[in-house]
Amino acid sequence: MGSVGAKEVPVLLTPDGRRIDGRRLDELRALEIRAGPLKQADGSAFVEWGANKVMAAVYGPREVHPRHLQQNDRAVIQCKYNMAAFSVDERKRPGLDRRSQEISKVIGEALQSVVFTEEFPRTSIDVYIEVLQANAGTRCAGLVAASVALADAGIPMVDLLPAVAVGKVAGAIALDLKKEEDNFGEADLPMALVPQSGRLVLLQMEGHMTEEELGTALDLGVGGCRAIYEKMKAALRDRYSVAPIEEAAR
Ligand code: ADP
Repeated sequence: MGSVGAKEVPVLLTPDGRRIDGRRLDELRALEIRAGPLKQADGSAFVEWGANKVMAAVYGPREVHPRHLQQNDRAVIQCKYNMAAFSVDERKRPGLDRRSQEISKVIGEALQSVVFTEEFPRTSIDVYIEVLQANAGTRCAGLVAASVALADAGIPMVDLLPAVAVGKVAGAIALDLKKEEDNFGEADLPMALVPQSGRLVLLQMEGHMTEEELGTALDLGVGGCRAIYEKMKAALRDRYSVAPIEEAAR
């Protein structure tokens, strides 16, 4: 442990390139995705990603509430991201705060860009994201869960939306930051990718990176998103796969 001012700073990167949890710079945390755990919702997904635990539920297309949000030419996507009061060590004030509103907005906009909303005019597609345990990267985990839940609800989309945060930790660009890396690192860059087109539909940045570092970070993030995409598809295949039909005996 080193120290900066009053804060104890853990060793974030060893000389042989290992991170605080033993990962390499380009390694994701363990990720498990389950499609359809909630029977009541039209679609749902549960994501365990490192120490993050996130549930998403989708309802709709259904009547729009409040009514004035209704659009005559498309569905509106109403996204609510919430972090449970017990999801973090420090006491978190329950309920809607500015951070939750911002995350709800960016996730909703990312989803809006891939859902064929014009197929369901005058309706709402309601996406609820509940973070039960948080350890950095929850907006990305929420987006992964939400897009699998939308697919589980049978809502037509251009593609699934894998997402991951890349950051700068002890001067190095690292994939998929955990809490200590997010807290004590120099930058955090969450992104979401449309895999088939290569388009980024969410890109935010906190902290500082050089132009060169940004290029490295984007490459690392896109590679991470492609690996996450495979897990998202596998979760949906697991949910809907049927036993192969035995070839009829001749
Ligand atoms: P993300 O979860 O997408 O990385 P942030 O960068 O805002 O979003 O948050 C990083 C992490 O900080 C969260 O995942 C969570 O572990 C923690 N955190 C965020 N807000 C709070 C809060 N109000 N109280 C305690 N911890 C929080």
